[in-house]
Amino acid sequence: MAEFKVGDGSWQKRLDAGQCPKCRSSLKEVDAKTKQCTMCGLTIMEKNFGGMTRIIRILDEELTELMSAGLYREAEKTRLRLETYIDMRNKALELSKGTSDE
Ligand SMILES: [Zn+2]
Repeated sequence: MAEFKVGDGSWQKRLDAGQCPKCRSSLKEVDAKTKQCTMCGLTIMEKNFGGMTRIIRILDEELTELMSAGLYREAEKTRLRLETYIDMRNKALELSKGTSDE
C-alpha cells in the first residue's frame, strides 16, 4: 500500500472532497472514522486529525470573518480555540507518523 505524506496538502484536499487520495475515486464511509475507496480499496482511518483538520479550517474561516467584521473580542476567542486544535492536531500527527509535520 502506498504511503501518503501527511504534510502533502493535496492528500487532505482530496479527502475533504470525498475522493480517494490515490486514484481520486469516490470514497464510501465504512464508519464515522473510516473511509474506503470503492475502486482501489484504499482504507483511510481518519483517526483524530481528519476531523481536526476540518474543525481547524472552520475556525480559521470563522476567525477571518470575525476579523473582517471588526469583532476582535470574538475573534480572539476563536483564535485561542484554533490554536488549541492546531496544537492537538500536531500532536496527533506526531503520534500517528512518528515525525513532526512542521
Ligand atoms: Zn482509490
